[in-house]
Amino acid sequence: MLFDERPKERREDLFDREAELAAIMDNINRPLLVLSGVRRIGKTSLLLVALNELGRDYILIDARELKANYGRRDLYSLLSKALSSRLSRLADVLRGIRGINIMSNYVEISWRGRDYISLAELFDALNRRRLIVAIDEAQRLRGPMGAELREALAHAYDYDRNLTFVLTGSEVGLLHELIGVDDPSSPLYGRYYHEVQLGRFSEEQSAEFLRRGFEEAKLKVSEEVIDEMVRLFDGIPGWLTFAGNQYLAARSLEEVRERAIGVALRELENLVEEKSRASPSAGRRYRLALKCIAEGRDSWSSLRRCVEEGEGVTLSSSVLDNVLRTLERLSIVKDYEFLDPVYREAARRLR
Ligand code: ADP
Ligand code: MG
Repeated sequence: MLFDERPKERREDLFDREAELAAIMDNINRPLLVLSGVRRIGKTSLLLVALNELGRDYILIDARELKANYGRRDLYSLLSKALSSRLSRLADVLRGIRGINIMSNYVEISWRGRDYISLAELFDALNRRRLIVAIDEAQRLRGPMGAELREALAHAYDYDRNLTFVLTGSEVGLLHELIGVDDPSSPLYGRYYHEVQLGRFSEEQSAEFLRRGFEEAKLKVSEEVIDEMVRLFDGIPGWLTFAGNQYLAARSLEEVRERAIGVALRELENLVEEKSRASPSAGRRYRLALKCIAEGRDSWSSLRRCVEEGEGVTLSSSVLDNVLRTLERLSIVKDYEFLDPVYREAARRLR
């Protein structure tokens, strides 16, 4: 079902993405692949469908579960979970490795003590078998363990010929920073990786997606409604899916729009909240910058004026520059524009 809100897993449920799937298939023997694109563009769906189509052994690590200041124990517990869920296929690979203990349906990994196993050692052990290591929303691994992970990736890149890493990320700037290919001090500096960038659906594709979805749900919907949804959601499959679903329930475009904005607003509030935890004034600045950009302040000087008005203080340009660059690394804003029109509407409503 096209309007199923979970990530798609089977090719027949995936709308289009033929070229992107082919690109993954063609490059799957390289050490490192990256799937990038804004939130809701379909990265997880593409990844899951590709893994299914390939039929090879893989582990899937969902880095979304990590908190910002996660520690080794959290990371290893995520790895345990990933290995455990593929245990029946991987038990023979994992057996006899110091630091890995196979229980009946769970894999323990020693994260400290005598049997401690490092990330690089773990990758070397997994390399006994041809294996895909997929990390969803990998930019979440930045932080305390980021440097060690990067070292381990670089080590695996050079020595573990049986491993292919596939990283996805919504916060594209942060993902590139994690890999550090542009950073001369990074161990992965200058290494080639293949990047599949997921773009929006065209207007025709978006309309076709909606028509097919409504057809599957056996609801007759006028072309005006389809056109309006296409206009509102700008080719982002996750929003089209959300909109289709909500329309089935509410039968009102206005309601669909409001609910989508509500979802996006909560996500922006979370971001501001997270920044506020670091410092209340940072939270305020992010809130103001988002609002100002949403109001159309599309140059440095007008944005600065707007944020200064809101704060009632003058701002150093490095402070504002920092905010703006962070919003760009998070793939929320680019060139003073929101990348997602629903986010723009939501930002207008930040209080
Ligand atoms: P991302 O991982 O980029 O945030 P997801 O793969 O989770 O995106 O997709 C977001 C939503 O959109 C999900 O409900 C998913 O089912 C739907 N979706 C995304 N791409 C497609 C596609 N090509 N065909 C059908 N549904 C899709
Ligand atoms: Mg995802």
